[in-house]
Amino acid sequence: MNTLERTGLLGGTFDPAHNGHVAIAETARRVFKLDRVLLVPARVPPHRLSAPVASASDRFAMVELAVKDHKGLAASNLELHDPAPTYTTETLQRLINAGQSTSQLFFITGADAFADITAWQGYPTLLDQSHFVVLSRPGHDLSTLRHKLPEIAHRFHEVSLGGFDCFPDDERTAIFTVEANTPDIASSVIRHRLSVGASVDDLVPSGVARYIHAHHLYGPAPRGKQFQ
Ligand code: ATP
Ligand code: MG
Repeated sequence: MNTLERTGLLGGTFDPAHNGHVAIAETARRVFKLDRVLLVPARVPPHRLSAPVASASDRFAMVELAVKDHKGLAASNLELHDPAPTYTTETLQRLINAGQSTSQLFFITGADAFADITAWQGYPTLLDQSHFVVLSRPGHDLSTLRHKLPEIAHRFHEVSLGGFDCFPDDERTAIFTVEANTPDIASSVIRHRLSVGASVDDLVPSGVARYIHAHHLYGPAPRGKQFQ
C-alpha cells in the first residue's frame, strides 16, 4: 500500500450495488481529490435480522462490476474474510496498522447512515480514526443531522461540491458535510422492483443488471414463500 495515498472508504451492504453508490463514491473522490475509493461490502451473517438477500460473494462481484469503468474506484474484500461481522472501527484500524495515515483516510457515508453514528461500535473514538465525509441523500438532508447529533455538530465542516481547499487546523480529523445531488436510488427499492418482476436497468450499472439476471438474484419469490 502506498501510505501517502489519500484513501476513501465506502462501507455498506451493497445488496445490490447501484448508481447511487457509484455517484457518492465519485463525488467524494472528486471533491476531496482522493487517489482511490474502496467500496467495502460488509459481511453480515445470514442469521442476522438485517441479513442481506444476496451472498457476500455475489455482493462483492456486483460491486466489482459497478466500478469496473471507474478509474480510482475499487471493490475491497477487507470485510469479507472474517466469519464474524467486521465493524468500521476495526476496518479503519486495519488500514492504519498497515501504514495508512489517519489524516489521509476518509470514511464516506450517506446522511442516513451517519445519522446512526452514535450506535456504531467504537463511537466516539472512531471519529478520530479517519475523516468522515457525509453526503446528503434524497430524503435525508444534512440540516437535520445537526439537530440529531448536537454533541458532535461543532465538528461539522461544510464543503461545497466545487472542492475542498484545506483541512481545518484545529482538529486532526474532521466531519465534512457535502450537499450532494446523488440520484434517488436505494438497494431496497431495487430488491422490491425485482421481486415483482420490474426492470432495474435505470438504477444499476449494466454489468450489475446482467449479473442479477444471470444469477437469478432477487427474483419473484416462489409460490408460498414470502419475499423479504
Ligand atoms: P438499503 O436500501 O438496503 O439500505 P442502500 O441503497 O442504502 O441499501 P447501503 O449499502 O445500505 O445501500 O449504503 C451504503 C452507503 O451508501 C451508505 O452510507 C448510504 O447512506 C450510501 N448511499 C446509498 N445510496 C445512496 C444515494 N442514492 N445517495 C447517497 N448516499 C447513498
Ligand atoms: Mg442503507
